[in-house]
Amino acid sequence: MDIQTIGIVGAGQMGNGIAHVMALAGYEVMLTDVSAEALENAMKIVEGNMARQAGRGKITDEEMVEAMKRIGTTTTLTDLGKSDLIIEAATERETVKQAIFEDLLPSLKPETILTSNTSSISITRLASRTDRPERFMGFHFMNPVPVMQLVELIRGIATNEETYAACNAVVEKLGKTAAAAEDFPAFIVNRILMPMINEAVYTLYEGVGNVKSIDSSMKLGANHPMGPLELADFIGLDTCLAIMNVLHDGLADTKYRPCPLLTKYVEAGWLGRKTQRGFYDYRGDTPTPTR
Ligand code: NAD
Repeated sequence: MDIQTIGIVGAGQMGNGIAHVMALAGYEVMLTDVSAEALENAMKIVEGNMARQAGRGKITDEEMVEAMKRIGTTTTLTDLGKSDLIIEAATERETVKQAIFEDLLPSLKPETILTSNTSSISITRLASRTDRPERFMGFHFMNPVPVMQLVELIRGIATNEETYAACNAVVEKLGKTAAAAEDFPAFIVNRILMPMINEAVYTLYEGVGNVKSIDSSMKLGANHPMGPLELADFIGLDTCLAIMNVLHDGLADTKYRPCPLLTKYVEAGWLGRKTQRGFYDYRGDTPTPTR
């Protein structure tokens, strides 16, 4: 199936990044969110990020203008019905995602492929609640989308080869690299990454180190480009906690128990960069550790 139009649900940090790369690759994009403010914000971010790319000579001014014209926004979910491919990138909560697919189904073309950018939720279970489990799969981008090379493509039990091939062709057109992952909790990248971040929070919780020493240790001692706590703030602490809960519930192993301190930060609404406070406070000129 030749994909030309793409509907993106959720205009948060992932949704705006996905809209950005799809529009630059020549796809017609329709972006939706329950919040009109989130949509407005997303368009500003995409424009700012494309302007930065143009400034560095990575794209031309004309490519930017053309790409921006290809992105439409709407707060009406069913406006996405005519899309060839839907990428759901809303909040990491299964009930939210289920409701989105349920509401979308009546307006979809029979051949539309449904995908989710979920970091951890079962693709097979999400697919089973739709009318097209064979045309449903995981399309998992990394953050920030315009920069990161990898896309995990996750087959649910029922996903057919035509659907996989169509999504793989989209990844190739984006100039990114696909990694095929089986549908087990958190797939490949987050199965490995999140327990490390959670362990960093335990290291903080138990007083083995403070925010600065933990991040410096992993940057200078393990050559990681970002410290694990800095990275957690970047991803969003609510997303990190949600992924740990999926690993804990899905694999039924206590080694995945979320650190109580991570839960505490989320309860405080200190979700990282997106709320200006997490393991660091971003309200000043330079991020300062909160512990
Ligand atoms: P975010 O909080 O930045 O954005 C989520 C957006 O979804 C918000 O704008 C919210 O208004 C919108 N939303 C909520 N309910 C909705 C609904 N019913 N209909 C339409 N929009 C709705 O979150 P994010 O970081 O962009 O994450 C989105 C998805 O991408 C999650 O599934 C997450 O696991 C996944 N993901 C996140 C990262 C990351 O690093 N943050 C990386 C890969 C994948």
